[in-house]
Amino acid sequence: MTTEQTARIAQRLAEVRQRIRDAELAHGREAGSVQLLAVSKRQPVEAIRAALAEGQHAFGENYLQEGAEKRAALAGEAIEWHFIGALQSNKTRAVAEGFDWVHTIDRLKIARRLSEQRPSEAAPLQCCLQVNVSGEASKAGVEPGQAPALAMQIADLPNLQLRGLMTLPEAVTDFESQRDAFRKLRTLQAQLVADGLALDTLSMGMSNDLEAAVAEGATMVRLGTAVFGPRPEKKP
Ligand SMILES: *Cc1c(COP(=O)(O)O)cnc(C)c1O
Repeated sequence: MTTEQTARIAQRLAEVRQRIRDAELAHGREAGSVQLLAVSKRQPVEAIRAALAEGQHAFGENYLQEGAEKRAALAGEAIEWHFIGALQSNKTRAVAEGFDWVHTIDRLKIARRLSEQRPSEAAPLQCCLQVNVSGEASKAGVEPGQAPALAMQIADLPNLQLRGLMTLPEAVTDFESQRDAFRKLRTLQAQLVADGLALDTLSMGMSNDLEAAVAEGATMVRLGTAVFGPRPEKKP
């Protein structure tokens, strides 16, 4: 990575932090209430180092092999690793052993395996339940109607800590439609809190819709391109 590329990441990160701050202000959110998760999938280790040097410590990865390589290369750095990719039940061990957070739980079977496989010396795995708010058949995530029962069961698992909900809605460009999807997640979260679950996380909003997500109560936005620029076609 050239010094110019490193400088560009520092610059993008500053711009993104300003965008988040502006959105908080515009939508009556407390300053600093929205956390940035830098999505580093398909970006090289040096890109993560460049963001780390600017004080970014939470990184999201989608692929297990790539994530393992990066964690090994960055061992000893103060990084909080978030798994945000598709979860298959035969791949849960790598998540349970290597990550601090997972955002993409949508079935009890997966949650049980993660809890069983979480090393006893580690802190509980911090979890979000992925909800399919736009009802697209192709999208992962539990149906909103089934989310409360599943959330209750996950909250009972010993080595997981259910922190909240996550969604990856249908990509739409107009602000009000973006808000509609995020509002569904916020409403569902409020219902679960009223049911007695202690949830504090709404993982929603990406590079193209972070303002709408912040307007609807996001506490964690997952930004890839806005931080690192376009993703390389192939994994590094
Ligand atoms: C890739 C990805 C992101 C980041 O997307 P950008 O549009 O690059 O900000 C966020 N969340 C998930 C689940 C992703 O897979």
